[in-house]
Amino acid sequence: MAEDTPQPVEKPAKIRLTDIAQRYKTRDIDVLALTDVNLEIAQGEFLVLLGPSGCGKTTLLRIIAGLLRSTGGSVEVSGQQLWNGRERNDAVMQELGVVFQDANLFPWMTIEDNIALPLKLRGVPKAERRRRAGELCELVGIKGFEKRWPRELSGGMRQRAAIARALSCKPQILLMDEPFGALDAMTRDQMNLELQRIWIESGCTVILVTHSIREAVFLADRVLLLSPRPGRMDTLTSIDIERPRSIYVQSTPEFQKHELELRQRLDSFA
Ligand code: ADP
Ligand code: MG
Repeated sequence: MAEDTPQPVEKPAKIRLTDIAQRYKTRDIDVLALTDVNLEIAQGEFLVLLGPSGCGKTTLLRIIAGLLRSTGGSVEVSGQQLWNGRERNDAVMQELGVVFQDANLFPWMTIEDNIALPLKLRGVPKAERRRRAGELCELVGIKGFEKRWPRELSGGMRQRAAIARALSCKPQILLMDEPFGALDAMTRDQMNLELQRIWIESGCTVILVTHSIREAVFLADRVLLLSPRPGRMDTLTSIDIERPRSIYVQSTPEFQKHELELRQRLDSFA
């Protein structure tokens, strides 16, 4: 009998994008929004998508989230295709949590019910939902606000609730589209710190879209800069700054060098 040959222990990419392209075409418009995106995102990586307005960041995130089937190329998550023809792979969708710029909480539901809604939709019993919502409120720093209404919370707190909701089904991948874009600068710094902590604690793979260079350098393992439309991969920058990063890291030469290089590259597009 043949002996088992040892298999190489190479960890597969968590997300693999191959030749992604997106053309928006209707009777009146024909826009090539994205083209030639080829990228592997490792398990547990924090990737930031940066680029000028209209370069296709949201489009790319929606493609990875399975909300849009790209007109070209393919998305693989945990070794499985996200789409089989027109069929979306629901097993893959279970691994994803999504956060948008607006918290999009239901105003007629308490914070707890909003956070636990995805669990309710999956038939998780009420007592368990409550327990899990309590845990998540603690994780995102809004413990004690479980029974409040969304309107009673500040913008930053509502965004924390939206993150908690996205994490409720324990996604392996968290996708965020300018989640802090509507917040003031100080709240935003605070949320960046909190997100870093949540990411470290959860071990998720994160893809975050922003147009803030500072936010990108602060949070990212790698920053993918997209060119103006049609969005292409312009530069991919590794940010090798030790974790956890404090806000003061922003005044170090290493941080500022990355910030300046990205700023100059972005300015060169204008
Ligand atoms: P970003 O998030 O980087 O600002 P988007 O992904 O929203 O960019 O948009 C990229 C380009 O695609 C823009 O030119 C935008 O106008 C166009 N676009 C986005 N969504 C649609 C759509 N549903 N139909 C037609 N064009 C679209
Ligand atoms: Mg956008």
